[in-house]
Amino acid sequence: MRERSSVVATVGLGANLGNPQAAVAGAIASLAALDGVKLVAQSAFYRSAPIDSSGPDYVNAVVQLQTNLSAPELLAQLQTLELGAGRERPYRNAPRTLDLDLLLFGDASIQSPSLTVPHPRMWQRAFVLLPLAEIAPALVSAALLDSVKDQILERVPDGNNC
Ligand code: ATP
Ligand code: CA
Ligand code: CA
Repeated sequence: MRERSSVVATVGLGANLGNPQAAVAGAIASLAALDGVKLVAQSAFYRSAPIDSSGPDYVNAVVQLQTNLSAPELLAQLQTLELGAGRERPYRNAPRTLDLDLLLFGDASIQSPSLTVPHPRMWQRAFVLLPLAEIAPALVSAALLDSVKDQILERVPDGNNC
């Protein structure tokens, strides 16, 4: 069978239940260990108060993965990791042990009932744009960053993200 070409996928991670920092760090390690996936970039961790939601502060990060999985295959892997971390969805925007969003998949544009890429809400979210700007500055303009400057986000100091 012909080798499938590889793509850089961008994944947003978030958690605000249990030990969110450990959940995000563990998920990054699990992503890096997946077959057909190589971790190529990882942002710092960021802490923020929930928006349109309740509960403890969130920890967020963004990673880039080189992968020869298809976008639906990668989404399925993300959902398996969420379930493994005890993710439940009692209601929209509920607090969560782990959330893994497929933000970008190369330059693909995907619209299916279970997957929209680019993630439609990513451009309005400081907790996505700030970490993304760290690892892929060409994707995040100054105007975009300016548009989310009122969303308060605290960078977790280096060495404290494990
Ligand atoms: P938001 O999407 O606003 O960040 P959320 O992450 O809390 O909200 P979920 O409950 O995790 O939403 O996901 C709901 C559904 O979104 C999933 O079942 C999945 O099929 C679908 N979905 C569509 N596009 C994507 C994407 N790019 N990444 C992850 N899930 C997606
Ligand atoms: Ca999300
Ligand atoms: Ca999600």
